Amino acid sequence: MIIKQKGTIDIYGDETKKRIYVNDLIRIICEKYNYGYIETPVFEASELFHRGIGDSTDIVSKETYDFKDRGGRDITLRPEGTAGVCRWFIENKMYGNLTEPVKVYYNEKMYRYDRPQLGRYRELTQFGVEFIGADDVLADIDVIGIAYHTYCLFGLKNVTIKINTLGDDEARKNYKEALLEYLIPYKDSLCNDCKKRLEKNPLRVLDCKIDCDSEILKNAPYTIDYLNDVSLERYNTLKEYLELMDINFVEDPRLVRGLDYYNHVVFEIVADVPVMGNLALGGGGRYNGLIEKLGGPKVPAVGFAMGYDRTIMAMDYSGVNFDLKTNLDVYIMYVSNCEKETASFLTQELRLNGFITETDYLDKSLKGQFKSADRMNAKYLVILNDGDLNEMLVNVKDNLTKEEEKVNINNLVEYLEGHM
Ligand code: AMP
Repeated sequence: MIIKQKGTIDIYGDETKKRIYVNDLIRIICEKYNYGYIETPVFEASELFHRGIGDSTDIVSKETYDFKDRGGRDITLRPEGTAGVCRWFIENKMYGNLTEPVKVYYNEKMYRYDRPQLGRYRELTQFGVEFIGADDVLADIDVIGIAYHTYCLFGLKNVTIKINTLGDDEARKNYKEALLEYLIPYKDSLCNDCKKRLEKNPLRVLDCKIDCDSEILKNAPYTIDYLNDVSLERYNTLKEYLELMDINFVEDPRLVRGLDYYNHVVFEIVADVPVMGNLALGGGGRYNGLIEKLGGPKVPAVGFAMGYDRTIMAMDYSGVNFDLKTNLDVYIMYVSNCEKETASFLTQELRLNGFITETDYLDKSLKGQFKSADRMNAKYLVILNDGDLNEMLVNVKDNLTKEEEKVNINNLVEYLEGHM
């Protein structure tokens, strides 16, 4: 038997319905915030992710699916959404006529060779938004606002945005030097990965899943203490706006996020989930240097991504009502094979007129068909029998009140429209 690959899931039945429910909410909220939907390819040149996300991150150093295609090209399966969107922005010279910022959202599969566990997969889905072409704090607020409101709309309780700032390039550089100076004496006590991170990008050490609870990291310098005046003022303005917008946030001076390209605000979305406790469901930040790093001009941008799989799990534990029931408008039943042709025709006719309609495909007895209709929560039953059909009549039964009426077959659509 061939079984699915480790870290992948089949999505079917109720799981599909939950995703449709979440997708619909995402589409609605993105329309309100005026983000357009974008799909980028599942595979891209490896260089895009290696250069964009950064070789010192776990995602690129340990988790990408890299391979050579049959033409010998180095290919990587998309591990996150931002780099692909930036590649699209640069390739299509979207910066050439930037009269308005570019606001896009994606909702797609990502691939990471992660250690599979509950809520952590190798094929995962992320919803994310990118706001490209504005450096103003208003753009940060737009992105944090949509992240926050999406989670509130999902029905999650106690949603909190954890924020921190890395400051501008100068502040980030100063902090990096201070952190390095602090960490070097402890080098031997750090894990092997962190020893390498010290050379490539010491900020990543703060993100380490192994060393994160050590006293060394707890006492490390804070980014906030290395901000220049401009960066500090910007951060204070951001907090004022967040308060004004009634967005529930807390400051987390240790937050740096796992990717190399952030500056100024970085944030994480956390929800307090019954049984599971505080769960990090997504995060983002400003990445003013990334587009330039990928070969485009210097264009400011900010974005966020949320993990779909973990979010749905959090919604499940929070008792969110996904409305999982199948709700048919009409179930067409037939007494014998003589009425099958009419059943088939009517099923199609009603569907084309906008009714969610089903019929029996398994030659079930009438009793069996009643049971199927109940299982699918059919509002109306249309029961066909030979005698009535000869007089162009069908029996329509309200499956809730159990009232039954004979209706002329030519008036069925009109009748149902009047009763729904
Ligand atoms: P990141 O792109 O690493 O900042 O992750 C953003 C969000 O995606 C996280 O908060 C998780 O909810 C989710 N996520 C990251 N990696 C995985 C994974 N392997 N499986 C499922 N969800 C993930």
